Amino acid sequence: MQAALLVANARRADIGGNPAGWLAVDSDGVIAGEGTGNAPAGDYGEIIDADGDLLFPGLIDTHAHYREPGLTHKGSMATESRAALAGGITAFFDMPNTVPPTVTVADVKAKKLIAARSAAINYAFFPAATEQTAGILDELMAEGVPGIKLFIGATTGGLGAPEGRALGALFAACARRGLPVMVHAEDNGIIADNAEYYVNKYGTRATVPTACHALIRSGAACRAATRRAVDLALRYGTRLHIAHVSTAAEVALLRTVKAAGDCGITAETTAMYLDPEFCKPERHADNRLKVNPAIKFEEDRKALLDAVADGTVDTLGTDHAPHLPAEKDGGALTAASGTPSAQFALPVMLEYLPSDVICDRMAASPARLFGLLRRGELREGYVADFSLVETGHPHRITDEDVLSPCGWTPFAGRTVHSRVRAVWLSGREAYRDGRFSGVVPSGLVFG
Ligand SMILES: [Zn+2]
Repeated sequence: MQAALLVANARRADIGGNPAGWLAVDSDGVIAGEGTGNAPAGDYGEIIDADGDLLFPGLIDTHAHYREPGLTHKGSMATESRAALAGGITAFFDMPNTVPPTVTVADVKAKKLIAARSAAINYAFFPAATEQTAGILDELMAEGVPGIKLFIGATTGGLGAPEGRALGALFAACARRGLPVMVHAEDNGIIADNAEYYVNKYGTRATVPTACHALIRSGAACRAATRRAVDLALRYGTRLHIAHVSTAAEVALLRTVKAAGDCGITAETTAMYLDPEFCKPERHADNRLKVNPAIKFEEDRKALLDAVADGTVDTLGTDHAPHLPAEKDGGALTAASGTPSAQFALPVMLEYLPSDVICDRMAASPARLFGLLRRGELREGYVADFSLVETGHPHRITDEDVLSPCGWTPFAGRTVHSRVRAVWLSGREAYRDGRFSGVVPSGLVFG
């Protein structure tokens, strides 16, 4: 074999049991060969001895909030994409709740321009669903959007999410084009009723404690909105991806729907909802863990972990959403919701999930579901985005390790046993041991 680069003496993260393996990359940044066991003899421009590190495909984070434009005091495409790269992530799909929100074709173009000059990894941008979206779908798709982000029944800061007829028209228009709708599903009415109850109980909005967050943004609110989104998708035949599923009830609904046949309904969860620490009752008062939907309870975590393991939950996103520490101050109804997580999601999840499951749910499956061509797998002919992850060395994550300017992580204090050592984009080393080489991402193609 002849190739520009050979990664030898690795262990394959994408294969159960992590057998020894290798990867060869040609001069165009495309995988020229791969396999288990020893690498074949050949003519290689450069040989990297992986020294037994796990070889991962580049992770594809289909749920990220990089805060630009408009919220760059929290983070930017430059800063958050570097934090993600250091976490083994080689592509992100950014959510539309920036300032201004991403709604029009011009908004998507503006974000692509920012990313082209500053993002350290590959990128794509979700437009938010509004009453106008169905009418501009073809123009949006020409910009390479992965899907449409719909906030169903959830407050979104004036995004004007479509209701009634307009919502049906959007589902129908997306169905005709095979374009996925990614939904944030929480029922506004249930949340408002719960909030009113706790405001009455504690006197003012400001005095409702953070521990009430999971009771206000309740499991029932998630279940009701997810049910509504599923019904719409089934009615119109729309590809639906349910973002950040957080409850056992939604898992049960998904199992029922999927058992009925191939319906094009898929789901995501995140490391926040799978974490064995975060669902403990005493942690519900921790503002760092305040996210929407709320982290629920142990029975929910168990159901979600089973669902990730057996593929009922199809993808793992990060929902990386940095806020400044001061913005996280307050109670259930006043502190900002959202947490930065991209930098440490991989080492944290390796504590409780097999690496081959992570590879599928966070690389192969996102690529497949969103129609990303030649990404997400260590396979001949695919783009050579990959990382090497050192294992077996326990270390504590601290806020000082955080690359995002927000300067904190919900995983601070956690001991993990793996560390992302180096990451390659299209066969070029983009990150190693805390240093970035400035490699420019090659760009995603949707099929
Ligand atoms: Zn989100």
